Amino acid sequence: MLKVEGLRAGYGAINILWDLSFEVNDGEIVAFLGSNGAGKTTMVRAVSGMLKPSAGSVLFNGEELAKKNSRAVLDSGIVQVPEGRQLFTEMTVLENLEMGAFNKTTREAFSGNLQKVYQWFPKLAERERQLAGTLSGGEQQMVAVARALIGMPKLLILDEPSLGLAPNIVDDILAVASSMARNDGISVMLVEQDITKALACADRGYVIENGRIALEGTAAELGANEHVKKAYLGI
Ligand code: ATP
Repeated sequence: MLKVEGLRAGYGAINILWDLSFEVNDGEIVAFLGSNGAGKTTMVRAVSGMLKPSAGSVLFNGEELAKKNSRAVLDSGIVQVPEGRQLFTEMTVLENLEMGAFNKTTREAFSGNLQKVYQWFPKLAERERQLAGTLSGGEQQMVAVARALIGMPKLLILDEPSLGLAPNIVDDILAVASSMARNDGISVMLVEQDITKALACADRGYVIENGRIALEGTAAELGANEHVKKAYLGI
């Protein structure tokens, strides 16, 4: 489904990503692990068309996206939940969710999908009329994930969903991601600092260090890897 090869990207004269190659298959949850500044968010931005790669290929269901803008990437079915959520804080929960329906298909399917996301996150139905900026951090993250789901992703990118959230809320959000992958065939790229939780939920993973893929394997292989244990799990 997603096949990235030799991806290079950076900011101005500074290169951050060095020839990243990875893939995400249909219905698969793939974790991207790495410490602060390793290049994970830069990778997300390069895949989602927000940052133009200087080299490499981003092939999604046979379509080359590396030179496309973020709107074209969105239309192809790659929807991201950005780090820091980026909600419209002066708009209600419902209005934020409406913003997720960005084209004709998603607008026509909106009411059905709204009921679906309210089943996943019942709290959002209760808070439909509340301004997003007045929600708790966990509720805001739910709105961000729900808004992405309204966009009917084939590939959902979650960038650090656990940031600043209580563990039980992170579990709820990852449970929704797992259910979507298992039951609806949506693929998930999970960028996550909480490596234990990420590996518990993912099928496979990649470790990014200094803008390069340092390791890859199944979640079980990475969890048992001595380097991962020492450098990331502190065991
Ligand atoms: P974190 O887990 O802390 O979010 P990350 O792995 O997502 O880290 P990136 O945000 O991709 O890391 O950052 C990788 C490098 O790129 C860092 O050295 C950062 O300072 C640099 N960088 C990020 N954004 C910019 C920018 N807009 N301009 C210049 N450099 C940037």
